[in-house]
Amino acid sequence: MRLVVQKFGGSSVSSVEHIRMVAQRVAQTYAQGNQCVVTVSAMGKTTDQLVSLAGELSDHPPQREMDVLLTTGEQVSIALLSMALQEKGLKAHPMTGWQAGIQTSPIHGRARIEGIDTQRIRHCLEQDEIVVVAGFQGVSEEGEITTLGRGGSDTTAVALAAALRADRCEIYTDVTGVFTADPRMAPLAGKLQEISFEEMLELANLGAGVLHPRSVECAMIHKVPLVVRSSFVDEEGTWVKEAEKMKEELNVRGIAHDLHVARIKVLGLPNQSQALTKLFSKLADHHINVDMIVTSEHDDERIDVAFSVHEDEWKQACGVIESCATELDYIKVLSETNLAKVSVVGAGMVTNPGVAAKMFTSLSDAGVRIKMVSTSEIKISCVIPWDQAKDAVQELHSAFGLDVKEKASVG
Ligand code: ASP
Ligand code: MG
Repeated sequence: MRLVVQKFGGSSVSSVEHIRMVAQRVAQTYAQGNQCVVTVSAMGKTTDQLVSLAGELSDHPPQREMDVLLTTGEQVSIALLSMALQEKGLKAHPMTGWQAGIQTSPIHGRARIEGIDTQRIRHCLEQDEIVVVAGFQGVSEEGEITTLGRGGSDTTAVALAAALRADRCEIYTDVTGVFTADPRMAPLAGKLQEISFEEMLELANLGAGVLHPRSVECAMIHKVPLVVRSSFVDEEGTWVKEAEKMKEELNVRGIAHDLHVARIKVLGLPNQSQALTKLFSKLADHHINVDMIVTSEHDDERIDVAFSVHEDEWKQACGVIESCATELDYIKVLSETNLAKVSVVGAGMVTNPGVAAKMFTSLSDAGVRIKMVSTSEIKISCVIPWDQAKDAVQELHSAFGLDVKEKASVG
């Protein structure tokens, strides 16, 4: 018998009507002779509403209590979905994260799954029950309730699929799959039939919200075949799988963008490696995530450093640097917001030179100013002015041959 793990996101369970549709889909999978484990998110915008409730009581809500609060959202969904399944005459068993044996690290708000004791789930499956597990939550060794970070239900689903050695993990969402670019930015973006784990991980880290980055990492490590598809439209989704099992190797598989980038330049730091250590340790101490870093020589004694951060952390980052002015011993700090990052991603880049040249040519032909560049084996990112992001995404999308003939259906 095959075992399938299915995950339904918040928009897929946003109303009783939608929950009935989800139950119908699960019932179909079950009727095809599969054992089913289903993970659900909180209904619609529930998590956001809970966050703002806490915000009314406190500017800095305590994290343990926050996790207790947020996990109630998913608990509502598992109860309602189990009822909907039972209405269809099926046996269903709702489980919170801790009932399902999901052990996590003790870090509230961004815990990591450390292991899953699947005994209880297995027992229910043997009784022919459909197991409905609350996404995004677990329990620490100390017995405290934890959450996995926003969007973490995807990770619950993949981790369950890995622990149960499921035949596949299906992620149901409000779009029909993974697209070559965000269709709101590039109307000629098309749905991908398949994408490798590595490429998907880059896209997820670059902010393609369709999958939580941790879930892709987990699928990659445990080789869990993953499919992203629509809850509402019955059409084949996008398979995320091992590169070797893919049909074609495209140079560039997708274009990602991030519209919330800021750049900070620290000019004239002492030309010693400790200066960089000090600067970035200070930022790390304040949990500021630095993305791209570029250094250049100012003169024999001094260097300049430029780096990018998320726009939300820009003010804090400048504050940290200015408060350590004496210790860091730099000449001047400059900063700039209203920037964006566009990236091209593709595993084929490793063996095909010329992707960077093509990217720079098409951006400069379109009059886009490149302010920073960074690369990994399968990605090239450029920081550009925010108001040129849409043009840039469209230019790159067509330059790398990704445009489809007709506008695709998104979901
Ligand atoms: N409900 C949580 C959130 O909104 C987890 C999830 O949906 O994956 O972030
Ligand atoms: Mg999500």
